[in-house]
Amino acid sequence: MTDLSARDLLRRIPKVDRLLAAAELEALHLTYPRLEIVGRLRETLDALRRQASAGTLREADLEVQAIRDRIEERLIRRFRPYYRRVVNATGVILHTGLGRAPLAPEAVTAISELAAHPQRVEIDLETGERGGRGLGCERLLCELVGCEAAAVVNNNAAATMLILAALARGRRVLLSRGEMVEIGGSYRIPEIMRESGAVLVDIGTTNRTHERDYRQALDDEAGMILKVHTSNYRVVGFTSEVEIDALCTIGREHGVPVVHDLGSGCLVDLAAHGRPGEQLVRDSVAAGADLVCFSGDKLLGGPQAGLIVGRREAVEACRRHSLFRAMRPGRLIYTALEATLRLYLGGTEEAVEKIPALRRLTADVNTLRPRAEALAARLADLPALEATAIECASQAGSGSMPAREIASWGVRIVPRDVSVKAFATDLRRGEPAVLTRVQDDALIIDLRTVDEDECVEIEQRLRQLSSVPD
Ligand SMILES: *Cc1c(COP(=O)(O)O)cnc(C)c1O
Repeated sequence: MTDLSARDLLRRIPKVDRLLAAAELEALHLTYPRLEIVGRLRETLDALRRQASAGTLREADLEVQAIRDRIEERLIRRFRPYYRRVVNATGVILHTGLGRAPLAPEAVTAISELAAHPQRVEIDLETGERGGRGLGCERLLCELVGCEAAAVVNNNAAATMLILAALARGRRVLLSRGEMVEIGGSYRIPEIMRESGAVLVDIGTTNRTHERDYRQALDDEAGMILKVHTSNYRVVGFTSEVEIDALCTIGREHGVPVVHDLGSGCLVDLAAHGRPGEQLVRDSVAAGADLVCFSGDKLLGGPQAGLIVGRREAVEACRRHSLFRAMRPGRLIYTALEATLRLYLGGTEEAVEKIPALRRLTADVNTLRPRAEALAARLADLPALEATAIECASQAGSGSMPAREIASWGVRIVPRDVSVKAFATDLRRGEPAVLTRVQDDALIIDLRTVDEDECVEIEQRLRQLSSVPD
């Protein structure tokens, strides 16, 4: 091609009208609004002019097809949703940054069938009267955990706040020093207490709290004994804490309500599936706690919600408080939650099989190994990286089963030509975004949080990245 001067090139940049009418842009007109196409087209032409002035414009850049491609690139970027699917290969099952529990197909179907339509929320279809917004979920919760009453709010932080405001405003709330948690995202128990108008009384010491510590602190001003699950840390060594059963006994003796913030709120015993030790909501209720609160999107495996269960009068006190209305979830949350809770009616086996969070948590490590080996084998021909199946450790995440690692298998990826960090970034940027764990100068793809069809996508993404000429 002949060398053209910057001025010649500038003059040859096509005009807006001509481009808009060009056959090459026809497909774009079918997909995007005209206003958007014009906007991105002008931006592209501006960029071409800047290139011309900088002397970096080539004749090929001026071809209509090339311009069209640049317009489309801008349109795609602009129309790509912020909230989009990612592949979670981090091995953190309930990843707060990735929306915690993925919903069961039953919950997804329930939402998609109702979202575009009016639905029953607060209307009694027998009488036509108003009332019972949370009823669909509350009935199931009562049955599943053996409580008198239940209420649903936006999340567990809201539930804790509401309980304190409704039952303990201006009163003393006894809490062990060992349970003074910060969950992250500015959720700190002492601050929630202050905001709710309750007065925190710390009991015992960081590592040891005894029944006598609670008894000594119980006076006429005491409005509540609170127990908080130490969701994201463990106190080990010379330790002692007072279990919920003993606290309920002390509370009954003194006529003081006992509240248990369980955090993750497990509904079924996973001991038979190799995951013992998580406190069950049902056990705290049976111990006699006046209220128990927990999240909908942690071990329960449903949508984000805060669930309050317990004695009728205590639940009603929460419901009557003005904050309750301010913490009310949207209709689709109730819908997804009801569908998720219904999956527990069939017992533990069915729940574990049908609820993705539980299925991933309990997946037998022996089923993960062959999948990891198969993926590593499929990646063996890629020259740009080295892939090896390895043992690794997953985590429940989101403050469920803290500091307990779950044996898993994954694929260790070492890129040959770029840094691990740059490779991880490339994986996050593409479609679908793949999030991995960076560990010991390698990427780990943990198979515990990756489904089989996602494995195929990961392989495709790795192939794409490996075929990019350097
Ligand atoms: C996770 C957690 C919370 C916060 O629950 P959200 O549903 O995220 O608001 C509160 N308390 C405990 C003990 C938790 O583990």
